[in-house]
Parts: sequence; C-alpha cells; structure tokens
Amino acid sequence: MASARIHRNITVQRLAKDCYHFFRCQRPVVRRLGRPFRISRRYIELDLTYRCNLQCRNCNRSCTQAPSRCDMPVAAIAAFIRESVATGRSWERIRLLGGEPTLHPDFTSIIGMLMDYRASANPGLRIVVCTNGCGPHVRRHLEDLPAAIHVKNTWKGRRQRLFRPFNVAPIDRPSYRWADTSCGCRILEDCGLGLTPQGYYPCGIAGAIDRIFGFGRGRERLPLPGDDMREDLDIFCRLCGHFGFSWPTRRIRMSPTWTQAYGRYHARCGHDPAPCR
Ligand code: SF4
Ligand code: SF4
Repeated sequence: MASARIHRNITVQRLAKDCYHFFRCQRPVVRRLGRPFRISRRYIELDLTYRCNLQCRNCNRSCTQAPSRCDMPVAAIAAFIRESVATGRSWERIRLLGGEPTLHPDFTSIIGMLMDYRASANPGLRIVVCTNGCGPHVRRHLEDLPAAIHVKNTWKGRRQRLFRPFNVAPIDRPSYRWADTSCGCRILEDCGLGLTPQGYYPCGIAGAIDRIFGFGRGRERLPLPGDDMREDLDIFCRLCGHFGFSWPTRRIRMSPTWTQAYGRYHARCGHDPAPCR
C-alpha cells in the first residue's frame, strides 16, 4: 500500500498567514511591493471528478452545493501527459483530487498512465492522491495503489469539519473594497496550476468556480510558463472565499453572489447530479 499520513488544512500558522496576506493584497501595498504570489510551474493538481461520497458544507469544489458526476475524460489526462513531454515540462508533483478522486470510474487506468509517464519521462515526479479516506470503496482503491504513490488523507467522515467559508465572495465584503484580487493567494504557490474537466486554470479551485458561474474560461492547452493568468485570477479570486482571511466555520456560509450563482446553476442544470454540465 502507498504511504499515508493524516493531513489538516486549518492550522493557527495558516490562519496567521491568511491574515498577513489580506493586508499584503491591499492595492496601496501591492502598488509599493508588487503582487505577492505567482503560480507554481513545478506543481499541478488534476481534479479528476466532482463525484464525492461526502457532503461537507463549504466544499471548495461545490460537490455538496451543486453535486455532479462530471469526470475528467481519460483523453484529457493523455493529452496533458503528451503536452508535458512535448514541451519539456518537468513536474515535481502531480496531485490527484476531486471530489473524491478514487471515485473516477477509470481511476486505476489514470494511475497507470501517470506511473508510465513517471517511469519514461520524469523519474523524480511525486504523484499524490488527495483523498477523504472514507468508506470501503475508497479504502480499497488506496490499498491497491502502487507503493510509489503518496497519499494525502484528510480522514474526513460524516462529522462536519472546520472549513474556510468558500462561498463568501470578497466582492460581497465591504472590507475587501481595496483588495487587488488579481494577486491570488498562497494556493497558487502551494498547489500550482489546476487541470479540471473544463480545462486549465490558475488553480483547481478557479476551475470549480467556473463550473458554477459558467464563464467558460478553461484553457485547452497548458498555459505557457510566462503566462501569469492575472485576468483569470481577477475574475475568480473576487468570488473565492480563500482570498484573504476568513474565520473557519462548520456552518453553511454563503454571500449573495454565490446564492444567485447556485440559483442560476440549478435553473440551468436541475438538482440531480449529472455528467459534466
Ligand atoms: S470530501 Fe472534499 S470534495 Fe468531498 S465534499 Fe468534502 S470537501 Fe468536498
Ligand atoms: S481562485 Fe481562490 S484559491 Fe485560487 S488563487 Fe484565487 S483566491 Fe486562491
């Protein structure tokens, strides 16, 4: 079985950093010091599916707020690998997320494809499966993983955990009126680019926001290393509860912009989980 360790997203240290970043991203500070974050080109996250076996409030992929059975096509993973090889992109880390990534119907094949890519083109690559570790199906997949795959297990269950209030949009918060949302947040550096079923984004969370708002900004090709994607960040970060500082909560928190966006999503797509829409 692959290596596993318990992971916690909310720590005092991280909250202190978020608080500092709130001030660091104020426009007068940015004008003096420049933007604090750049998208890491060493890391990428693949959001394999929006299926999930849990219903965490404030899920930052909207798996609870707008359930979906949308999966990343295997062809998109193959294209990502081909493009990475053709352009000489040497990823240090690829993380597989969702939703719950092990629920992707072709999870085992995708692991095989990434292991082949690692063996043939990128031997230093670290492949990490980020999982909630909940339920026999998920655990069976984790037990079957090759030893070279790392597991980041949040060990979630039915009991609600503390989450940052993802659905509280900075544009709905008067205290953010001086913020430069094109700065992004530390997730750009900690997690890297995002590839989702809708395409490439500055981070996986931006792709999850686009799934609900329907801007259609997913890129078909890997963004070039010099492309800082600031226009995308300015659109997505003003909607994202990870921007700046918020107290973590176990309760559902949603600002008006998100309430309206989910209303439009459900009017467009209905309430039944369905394949990509
Ligand atoms: S386990 Fe993760 S993806 Fe699933 S609902 Fe909870 S936060 Fe969302
Ligand atoms: S969309 Fe959210 S998670 Fe992504 S960079 Fe912006 S604030 Fe951070």
